[in-house]
Amino acid sequence: MTLLKPTAAQVAALVDGDRPVCAFLHDLDALCRQARSMIGALPPGAELFYAVKANNAAETLRALAPHVAGFEVASAGEILKVRAAAGPDVRIIMGGPVRTHADIALLLAQRVERLHVESVQMLRIANAVAAEAGTTLPILLRVNLAGPVPGATLTMGGVATQFGIAQSDIPDALRMLKECTALRFDGFHFHTVSNNRDAAGHAALCTMELNLARAWATEHGLDLRIVNLGGGWGVDYADPNWRFDVAGFARALASASAGAPALQFECGRILAAYHAVYVCEILDIKTVHGRAFALLRGGSHHFRLPSSWVHDHPFLVLPRDAWPHPWPRPELANTMLTLTGELCTPKDVLARNVPVARARIGDLICFLMAGAYGWEISHHDFLSHPHPERIYLGEAAA
Ligand SMILES: *Cc1c(COP(=O)(O)O)cnc(C)c1O
Repeated sequence: MTLLKPTAAQVAALVDGDRPVCAFLHDLDALCRQARSMIGALPPGAELFYAVKANNAAETLRALAPHVAGFEVASAGEILKVRAAAGPDVRIIMGGPVRTHADIALLLAQRVERLHVESVQMLRIANAVAAEAGTTLPILLRVNLAGPVPGATLTMGGVATQFGIAQSDIPDALRMLKECTALRFDGFHFHTVSNNRDAAGHAALCTMELNLARAWATEHGLDLRIVNLGGGWGVDYADPNWRFDVAGFARALASASAGAPALQFECGRILAAYHAVYVCEILDIKTVHGRAFALLRGGSHHFRLPSSWVHDHPFLVLPRDAWPHPWPRPELANTMLTLTGELCTPKDVLARNVPVARARIGDLICFLMAGAYGWEISHHDFLSHPHPERIYLGEAAA
């Protein structure tokens, strides 16, 4: 798997040279290679969907469309973005914790192939809207597991969260479903953890979920066609070269996954993270209360991930020789550097006290692994600074 790591010269050739540098660079060919290599490792018959919320840029969606089975969306807006970017024929499946009548009407009109239902209220709304439209809507029931689930960065199930139907309520939901004549039950959906770095542990969790789905199907006499095991395959922001063991995960799942039902996965982070960087020019440096700061053109309004997760985002310093001013160029050498943005809040920090050999005003900071949950989760217009350039590279961008 690749990791985008441009040089200062490569960045210079791409960005607008008249302004301080602030840009996301995306290597779409690397993104597509990554998707193909993941799909090649999956158990036979398993399908990989792309979870759009990780990075919903039209360029990303268009590039991935020929490779993935389809797109997992979580809002009406994401349905429309996928249709606009990748056309009327790509497959879409839909999840998300709450749904309105208008959402269901739109998903029917836009030929979304299946809805992941997260509550009894959602079952009733989906059934009512599908019945009114005179159609049958295929669904999966999303389960929130009863038991505790071992560690990942974010936990969506096995603990008290708003997601899915509590495992103990699944029998009731199945009874209700019998009255929902405009819905077709296709199976169960699980997305229990996010950013799980333990491939063997993730395979064990998925095996348990698959067996639970099979047991319910037997007990309730259901035609179990599909089990969607969510996303959540991890990345390690502390070690950009580390990779989730996709092949090991698939091998560990192989015996449990043989035969029916068909498996689906819907991954976001692992697909989108590696192929993009966020590059910011150092506009100022200073030492305050003994701490060395580099202040960047950019910040958490473009890239909220490090402040959201309170981690030091991995970065490279890309030195640049040009210095246009008549005064001496300020620099920090062999220091513990804190990288902050241009916002008027002490929360605008992207990395804290990280050892750096040299950083000068005018050098570039290149944040690695910036493709997933970066721009998408950020408050772009707080303080009304200009947005970053967003540059897409590769044949898939043509
Ligand atoms: C966010 C999300 C995903 C993707 O998760 P990643 O950790 O990015 O792989 C998949 N399914 C659901 C339901 C989600 O909410």
